[in-house]
Amino acid sequence: MVSGPLTQMLARNAAFAQTYQAPPKLLQMASAMRSSNAGVVVLSCSDPRLNPYQILGLDATLKATMIRNAGGRVVDAIRTLAVLQTIGAPGTIAVMHHTDCGMTHYHDADIRAALRDLAPEETEAIDASKFGEITTSIEESVREDLKLLRASPLIRKGTQIVGLKYDIFSGELSVVEEEGDAKSGSKLV
Ligand SMILES: [Zn+2]
Repeated sequence: MVSGPLTQMLARNAAFAQTYQAPPKLLQMASAMRSSNAGVVVLSCSDPRLNPYQILGLDATLKATMIRNAGGRVVDAIRTLAVLQTIGAPGTIAVMHHTDCGMTHYHDADIRAALRDLAPEETEAIDASKFGEITTSIEESVREDLKLLRASPLIRKGTQIVGLKYDIFSGELSVVEEEGDAKSGSKLV
């Protein structure tokens, strides 16, 4: 039995579905996206205070494909990016990190300690894992992730890769770094 706030969410969904307008079919949309190269993927944090649809003014006329994870880190977004490139061949990938992020407060050592308590039999694997801590400035963590993207053979050359910093207290988004391709990007590191 579902309990807690999800109960209300499911009730709201029932109302939502009443007036829902179905989108185009996937294969139709993917074909249009691939031919225009206009797709935008935004990688951002899972933080519930951060709403990328609102931050970027997305609506029925301006869309982006979303990837969200703890910190908005590239390390565990690569699989999804590889799939998205196959489906819609996005011309732009934006990496958005934000101020007051959980990954700046909870570091890998904290996460490892909590996980060792939860699953002591997995200690070896836990200690060998990285969890995406941010111990530098947000600008630096964004640059680190852009470097990973540019170095990945799974990201198409020529993809516009842009780094963004979101100030969660002012609502302002600023461009940390933008480059058209891996070659020019490598000059910055
Ligand atoms: Zn965050």
